[in-house]
Amino acid sequence: MTLNATHDPALCSWVASANAVGSDFPIQNLPFGVFEFEGDGRIGVAIGDHILDLYAAIESGALVLGSEAACALSARTLNDFMGLGQCEWHAVRVAISHFLAEGSASHESLLRAMNKTTMRLPAAIGDYTDFYAARAHATNVGRMFRPDGEPLMPNWLHLPVGYHGRASSVVVSGTDIRRPSGQLKPDDAAPIYGPCRLLDYELEFGAFVGTANEMGSTIGIADAMNQLFGLVILNDWSARDIQKWEYQPLGPFNAKNFASSISPWVVTMEALAPYRSEGPARQSDDPPLLEYLQPAAGSADAIDVKAEVFLASADMRAQGTSPMKLSSGTLSDLSWSFAQMLAHHTSTGCPMNSGDLIGSGTVSGTEKSSRGCMLELCWRGTEPIELPDGTERRFLLDGDELTIVAFCEKVGAARVGLGSCSGVIQPATN
Ligand code: MN
Repeated sequence: MTLNATHDPALCSWVASANAVGSDFPIQNLPFGVFEFEGDGRIGVAIGDHILDLYAAIESGALVLGSEAACALSARTLNDFMGLGQCEWHAVRVAISHFLAEGSASHESLLRAMNKTTMRLPAAIGDYTDFYAARAHATNVGRMFRPDGEPLMPNWLHLPVGYHGRASSVVVSGTDIRRPSGQLKPDDAAPIYGPCRLLDYELEFGAFVGTANEMGSTIGIADAMNQLFGLVILNDWSARDIQKWEYQPLGPFNAKNFASSISPWVVTMEALAPYRSEGPARQSDDPPLLEYLQPAAGSADAIDVKAEVFLASADMRAQGTSPMKLSSGTLSDLSWSFAQMLAHHTSTGCPMNSGDLIGSGTVSGTEKSSRGCMLELCWRGTEPIELPDGTERRFLLDGDELTIVAFCEKVGAARVGLGSCSGVIQPATN
């Protein structure tokens, strides 16, 4: 995707907070989300520490868009807009960039203060699929779960491994997470039903499907990135003890279906264009890819988004202690791109719908500081983490708040933030 005037790092907005150094939401970002207004959902665009109320902007005649886009953006979810495709997304981005630019008329009455607004899920998510695309994560988990075998399963280097997740339990950042109960198998004892003891998070990114494909058709690798609408931060909460007992032979089930959190602002692929790079990386002795998974010539399917993970216990929050940084990671550590995931997902003719969510899988690098979940960070509980409140963690405890932030930064381009994704663990009730 080529850069255009909306990416110009010199561009400023009449919304002063958008021009502050380090803002997640400068005028070059313009992510879409759904916020609550008078008991209803409205689509907005984040700008600095405010939200541009698109419904009000369109209704009042202040923001003039094509009729299809205007109609789609007056809805309660982003699904219709996601389905319009790249040309419409681009036209709307240009119009909003111009509307919010310094020098254009200011419309303070169309802004809502972000800190006084509740966010909702950006889309009605029909289907959610989670992949397993980071080599370091798959290798680490393979080593822990199957210490006697090859850490990578034989299929892993040939196809992006995934499973069909549960869309009904995808929640927006800020939603409390109830510790699940389930069937656990203690070593040397019969299975029991009870609260998960090994509750974990997974640092991931989620891609929203934009344009749909019909059942029986495929999305080719060359088109795949252009059919994705944008990215969010994803935390795939995981019950490791439930997972260990249930996962063979059909993969995770109850270990993953109780909650997945996403950040509320969808950063569009166009906003991320300055941060695309060649990739994903394959090692020289990896087997060749089948043609339908080979990146198109000259494509830049990797995205350099960085993420940081923070933990704050209930005591730390009560004492006003800053959250402790657990790890940091980058999406470009993935061995499979979202384009390959989408091409593989539809290679059978599986239809994707606008607003479907694709998870990257845990983003882990080869360094210990870039391990993207507690299972890896504490190496299955053998290397506990000490928190500033004097307690230890091997897995998450009740009252813990886990927060993931993500952003893109480099010289010569405006910083683009994805905001944050957080959740507090509540005690089990079953
Ligand atoms: Mn996952």
